[in-house]
Amino acid sequence: MIKIDPPLTDEVKRINAGREATFRDRLATIDESGKRVWIYPNKPKGRYHRYRAIFASFLIAVFFAGPFIDINGHPLLLLNVFQREFVILGQPFYPQDFFLFVLAMIALIVFILLFTLVFGRLWCGWACPQTVFMEMVFRKIEYLIEGSAGKQKSRNKRPMSFDKFIRKALKHSIFFFISFLVGNTFMAYLIGKEQFLATVTGSPADNLIAFNFIIAFGLLFYFIFSRFREQACTLVCPYGRIQGAILDKNSIVVTYDWLRGEPRMSVKRAEKHDNPGDCVNCYACVKVCPTGIDIHNGTQLECINCTACMDACDAIMDKVKRPHGLIRYASYNSIENGEKLKVDARMVGYSAVLVGLLGLLTFLLVTRSDIEMSILRTPGMLYHTMEDGEIGNLYNLKIINKTYDSISLEIEVESPEGGRVEMVGSSPEIEPQEVYEGACFIIIPPEQVTGVKSPVVLRVMSGDRELETVKTSFMGPVSSP
Ligand code: SF4
Ligand code: SF4
Repeated sequence: MIKIDPPLTDEVKRINAGREATFRDRLATIDESGKRVWIYPNKPKGRYHRYRAIFASFLIAVFFAGPFIDINGHPLLLLNVFQREFVILGQPFYPQDFFLFVLAMIALIVFILLFTLVFGRLWCGWACPQTVFMEMVFRKIEYLIEGSAGKQKSRNKRPMSFDKFIRKALKHSIFFFISFLVGNTFMAYLIGKEQFLATVTGSPADNLIAFNFIIAFGLLFYFIFSRFREQACTLVCPYGRIQGAILDKNSIVVTYDWLRGEPRMSVKRAEKHDNPGDCVNCYACVKVCPTGIDIHNGTQLECINCTACMDACDAIMDKVKRPHGLIRYASYNSIENGEKLKVDARMVGYSAVLVGLLGLLTFLLVTRSDIEMSILRTPGMLYHTMEDGEIGNLYNLKIINKTYDSISLEIEVESPEGGRVEMVGSSPEIEPQEVYEGACFIIIPPEQVTGVKSPVVLRVMSGDRELETVKTSFMGPVSSP
């Protein structure tokens, strides 16, 4: 371990310069030859870890219960990409509502930008499913079966033995079982609880595709949590990659207080030093880090803000009787200049855009119609003139009932005046979330037909309630008779 003891010798300066030059060039989990460096983090414990464990338990319970929670008999969340059925907080959405989805996604991205700008990667440490499952479930099982980080490391170096085999087999069996449960739950969000229960209780041959997806998800999650681990955050996660572009010196992140900590030195050396820093150079913060980085080097891509180093350092501060918070949630500016969080132009800009987007989204959701109707003139059909001179066009109709109630509909002509709709067959009676496909005639008095193409506005009524107005065009003679 490198000790940084002032006055720094030339040798130490050279080594430290080397460290500082490489830590941003190479991930902590990859060595010079490009090979993976397996991380054995010490078991975290402390105040923040306890809070995170409580919050993670809540999130895990919600995740597993989610597919089986109904709101007024409808799923809390259903993301059925296979059948293009989406239910969010009990509200059904259809491919026709795609613009709402896009708007919600843009609002979410702006929210993430704003949140990250102010609070750094709080999401990663506290709520990201990868961190929650990895650190609060899989890692804990590993400590329980394989012991501390040191024991794991030395056992992995030893050749296979009965004890090692049993521990590894037990650990991986439990890992696979939990990964399989996570894969099952993930699938339940995609296909809905009815189809999910039919898949897991029936013969695999009856639901072969869903069954294969469940197995594939289970294997994928097992690979991520048993082998891939922190690489998901450092190599794959796009959010982690873009944080460097979002964070600034005002952002609150897990930070080492270099003004208070430096110059670092052991307690023994500090006794002989005029102005020692509070950091005792114990490296407990590095040994506990699940991504293998050294927080002394400042904010880094790999830091998932998991707070483990904060707890580890506070425990050391207790031992050496110095105040907590040498590593804490703080902005660069708050440490460097003692500045409190400043509302800057970027924050105001993101906030204004976010408020505008949320306002628009709320308006569109509130005014969203219960139905979605499309009406198109039947291809290949011209207009026809009736005995009394009225002109008619035949149309194909498609109506989606977006509600959970059956609806009976009447379609009226709002303009031009005197027009009417005659259904081919009876008026549409549409079951919940069903699609009606049929045909109708629109009939317009000849004096209202203004040419080859006249605009027509239709009103869709359910009893006295107007559900939607739809525009279409009406074909007539070049000049009305
Ligand atoms: S745990 Fe605290 S005292 Fe120990 S090296 Fe890290 S910052 Fe310094
Ligand atoms: S530096 Fe600290 S907060 Fe960041 S990942 Fe490592 S232990 Fe977690």
